[in-house]
Amino acid sequence: MTGPGHSRPVSVIKNNYFNYIMSIEKGPEFRIVGGASPEKKEEAKKELQEALFNHFESLSPKEQKELKKFEYKKSDKEKSLIDFANQETNELRQEAGMEPYNVPYENYHLLPSKKYDKLKPGGSDAMTSYTRQGILLNKENLSSDPLKLGSAFVHETLHLKGHYAEKAEEHDKDVGTTPFREGVSAYGARRDKPHEHFYGLHEAIVANQEKKSFQKLLDLPFFQKEKEWLMSDEAKKIRKEMADKMKISEDEFRWIDKKRGWGTFPFRAPREVLDFVCAEIQKEYPQQYQDKDEVFREFLKSHCTGQLLRIGRLVEKTFGEGSFRALGNMTANKESAILHMELLKKARARKEKIVSTLVFSPDRGASAGRPRNPKISL
Ligand SMILES: [Zn+2]
Repeated sequence: MTGPGHSRPVSVIKNNYFNYIMSIEKGPEFRIVGGASPEKKEEAKKELQEALFNHFESLSPKEQKELKKFEYKKSDKEKSLIDFANQETNELRQEAGMEPYNVPYENYHLLPSKKYDKLKPGGSDAMTSYTRQGILLNKENLSSDPLKLGSAFVHETLHLKGHYAEKAEEHDKDVGTTPFREGVSAYGARRDKPHEHFYGLHEAIVANQEKKSFQKLLDLPFFQKEKEWLMSDEAKKIRKEMADKMKISEDEFRWIDKKRGWGTFPFRAPREVLDFVCAEIQKEYPQQYQDKDEVFREFLKSHCTGQLLRIGRLVEKTFGEGSFRALGNMTANKESAILHMELLKKARARKEKIVSTLVFSPDRGASAGRPRNPKISL
């Protein structure tokens, strides 16, 4: 019993604390699909849970040896940044109706550039491995501005805490597992040439949230000096000049300093597509969504739950049949995002035109506006 005037017996407090710890450690419900037997699927699930909560032990002896040799020890500040990333992503999971849990410190691997580049040549500065439940980070590159590492922790932790499903197949006596779903992305059926659908949308969702969480990151006490600088007139002036020069919005800068050093948020082009999609859905359903950010939360929810039905219907009802599948073909690169932006803009214009001709007689003209869908029942 709880409430004013009642103190809880120690056993209850202990019990609640135990439940709390258990819920944090319980972690996500990994989904295993495919043709393997139920026992083998259960084994695959346990392996993932081990990889998450007993990470170091789950690695091969060779990997353990390599990590002991090359991995940087985490400072207290770096641990606090991981705490922040866990807390922030737990709030998002809870909003999506999912259980919160903390990714342990040992699952984050801060590596020197040389070692990181060997593992992920020519890629970004951080990567998430769902199969190993770990995050690799290029510490040297992520130190190029004071806020880059903290922002990357949020980004990668949100990837890892997204929905994950694995496919388990038995070949003779061996069981092979491959990623099946990661966040909103889905892998195609071909084993020889894996193709990831919705990858561009996946990165757009994660990077958009990274940008949104940035303000809170900047509010952390140990970034006070950096915050003061970024808010100063001098920094604002440099930021404006750079934004004009690069033809991007001023809020795209995560960092800017006197020597014209700067850092921007990743995946701008796919984020712009997502932003456009959210804005148009909001216009279509103004009673249901006050602003485009509320629509974005639907996408975030799909990232956490893996359920695509709702966002799929919202996109199709706003942009027309086949538009969600088209959005699924967008990759994370700039050219693909630009192409899909054009496609979606055309689809939206076509949809508006069709509805306008249906609603209004030709003499009144189509520009008079039209009633929007007041509610969507999904
Ligand atoms: Zn990413």
